Amino acid sequence: MLKAERARFVADELERRYPETPIPLDHRDPYTLLVAVLLSAQCTDLRVNQVTPELFALADTPEAMAEVPVEKIQEVIRPCGLSPQKSKAIAGLSKILVEQHGGEVPQSFEELEALPGVGHKTASVVMSQAFGFPAFPVDTHIHRLAQRWGLSSGKNVVQTERDLKRLFPEDSWNRLHLQIIFYGREHCTARGCDGTVCGICRALYPERKKPKKTRRA
Ligand code: SF4
Repeated sequence: MLKAERARFVADELERRYPETPIPLDHRDPYTLLVAVLLSAQCTDLRVNQVTPELFALADTPEAMAEVPVEKIQEVIRPCGLSPQKSKAIAGLSKILVEQHGGEVPQSFEELEALPGVGHKTASVVMSQAFGFPAFPVDTHIHRLAQRWGLSSGKNVVQTERDLKRLFPEDSWNRLHLQIIFYGREHCTARGCDGTVCGICRALYPERKKPKKTRRA
């Protein structure tokens, strides 16, 4: 199967399996989504969703969060890990949003990535899920599955994002990145797979008879 054919099969199969694409991180608006995505670095969405109710009860706007002592933020978010860095970032970006963006989350990659603790993946999630702007945030699941499905060499997430954006139509990116994450969590996990256990690889590689060791990504 050619790469473009594999991409088409994957898109159709994931659309069949995941017609609904709810946003995994609980939030009420672009600001609470931004904070939740920042907290999800090296942490599960499940854990973030357990922590944010208490955090947002404390403060759920940039103005209110900018008034909360960093130590208090750190105390509340500790279960998400990396709490010293994350609490400083949340406090810092909240102050910048108030001082430089009128308390609003900016709708541009550049301005988002200029905020403390906000990298390209976080900015892409916010642009895609809060503002509906086409983006293809590449997390560990997407990086791993793109490699296993032969859609990208998987050398690094930048390369993976570039390859996937070239392979899939722009208007599919916002749904597809969530559908790939759902499949990665449910079926194609980080634990190695021999590439023969489920229908996707069997369809993508019909000639594959022997188990194939897929690199852990
Ligand atoms: S066969 Fe394994 S590697 Fe291929 S899609 Fe299924 S779970 Fe993932």
